[in-house]
Amino acid sequence: STSLALYFQERKRNRIQSQFEARPIELRSDEVVDGVTGLIGNTPLVRINSLSNALGIEILGKAEFLNPGGSVKDRVALRMIEDAERQGLLYPHTGSRIFEGTVGSTGISIATIARARGYEATIIMPDDVAEEKVKALLSLGAEVERVRPASIIDKKQNLARHRAEHFGQDNLHHPARLRATSFSVVVTTTAADLIAPEHGPVTANDEHELRTKPRGFFADQFENKSNYDAHYDGTGPEIWRQTSGRVDAFVSGAGTGGTISGTGQYLKSMNEDVLVVLSDPEGSGLYNKIKFGVMFDMKEAEGTKRRHQVDTVVEGIGINRLTRNMQFGLPLISDAFRISDAEAVAMSRYLVQNDGLFLGSSSACNLVACIKLAKKMGWKEGQRIVTILCDSGSRHYSKFWNDDYLHRANIPINTKIIDDLLAST
Ligand code: PMP
Repeated sequence: STSLALYFQERKRNRIQSQFEARPIELRSDEVVDGVTGLIGNTPLVRINSLSNALGIEILGKAEFLNPGGSVKDRVALRMIEDAERQGLLYPHTGSRIFEGTVGSTGISIATIARARGYEATIIMPDDVAEEKVKALLSLGAEVERVRPASIIDKKQNLARHRAEHFGQDNLHHPARLRATSFSVVVTTTAADLIAPEHGPVTANDEHELRTKPRGFFADQFENKSNYDAHYDGTGPEIWRQTSGRVDAFVSGAGTGGTISGTGQYLKSMNEDVLVVLSDPEGSGLYNKIKFGVMFDMKEAEGTKRRHQVDTVVEGIGINRLTRNMQFGLPLISDAFRISDAEAVAMSRYLVQNDGLFLGSSSACNLVACIKLAKKMGWKEGQRIVTILCDSGSRHYSKFWNDDYLHRANIPINTKIIDDLLAST
C-alpha cells in the first residue's frame, strides 16, 4: 500500500496519463440517425494492437460486426433493397417479399431491413449452417427454408429465384411487364417508366397495380451489382478517409466477391499501388484462380465427392465458381493466401486472449492473411494493411467457437500457430 501511495503521488506529480484514469467514451456520430438503416456503415477502423505491435506495422480492421444486423452484409442488403426500390421492383408496405439464398449473414441483414421497410423475407439456406443464424432469422420474423448442403450455392440460389418468380407470378403475367432488369438501374418512380411501350399507354389502373400488388424480389447477392456498389460507394471511401489515403494493402476474403471487388476497386482508383489481396479458406477454388489462372479446388482435383462444397469450418468466404461480383475484382487481385482451419481457429483464440476481440471465422482468416502478406513483402515498419472484420464470434457458437465441434472435426485449437507465424521470417 505504501508503494501504491507513492505511485499515486508520482502520477499526480508527473501528470501521467494512465489506463486507470476514466476517459469519456467518444460517440461514433453526434447526429441522431434515421431508424435502423441509419446505423448501417460508417464503422470504425480498429488497430489490432497485438499483431501490429508484433509485426511493427499497422494492421487495421474495419469493424463491420458493429452494424445493426451484426455483419458487413447490412451494407449490401440495404443497397440491394434501395436499388430495387429505385428500379420499381419493390414498393414498401405492399406485402412484397424478398427472397435470398445465403449462409446466413445476408439473410439476417435482409430480414432486419425488410422489417424496417414493411417487406416480408424468405431466406433459403443450407441445412448445416450454424443454428444461431437460423434462430436470429426466425426472431426477425423471416421465413426460413433449408436445403441439403450438396451443391449448396446453386441450389439455394436457384430455389430463391424460383420462389421469387412464383411469388411475383401475377406481376410477371400482368400486361404491364417491367422494362427494368435487375442489373440496369432505372431511376424511376412512375409506372410509365416501367412499362414496355409495346403494352400501350399506361392506365391509372396499371399505376395502381404496380404500386400496390405484392411482388417477389430475388435479391441475388452473387450476381447483383448493387453488392459491389455498396462497397465501392461505402466501405472503400470510408477506409480511404479513415487512413487519410495511407494504405498499402487491402486484404479480404470472398464469398460473393462484393467486398473485395468494390472496396478494392475504389482503393485502386484512388491509388493504383494499393495491393488487393485475397484470403481464401481450404477447399475454395479462388486461390488457384488467382495463383494459377485455373478455377479448381484441390478436393475436386483429387476426385473426392465434395465437388461444390467448400470444405472448411469457416463460414461466409470461399467459393468454387466465379460470380459476377467476383469477376469485377479478379483483375485487381495481385496475391492470394490459403488459410487452414487450424490457422483461422488459432487466430480467433489469439485475438480474444491478446486483444479482447471476439470475432467470426472469416475475420480470423483475413487477419492470418495479413500476417502472411507482411512476412512475404518483408514489411517491418510503418506499412498499413487494412482488412475486414466481417462479423462477431457470437454468430459462430455452434461450430467455429464450439471446442467440442472442433475436436470432433479434428481441428486443433492452438494459439502457438500464430506465435510461430509472427516469429517466422
Ligand atoms: N464474412 C462473412 C461472415 C460473410 O457472411 C460473407 C458473405 N458471404 C463474407 C465474409 C464475404 O463477403 P463477400 O460476399 O462480399 O465476398
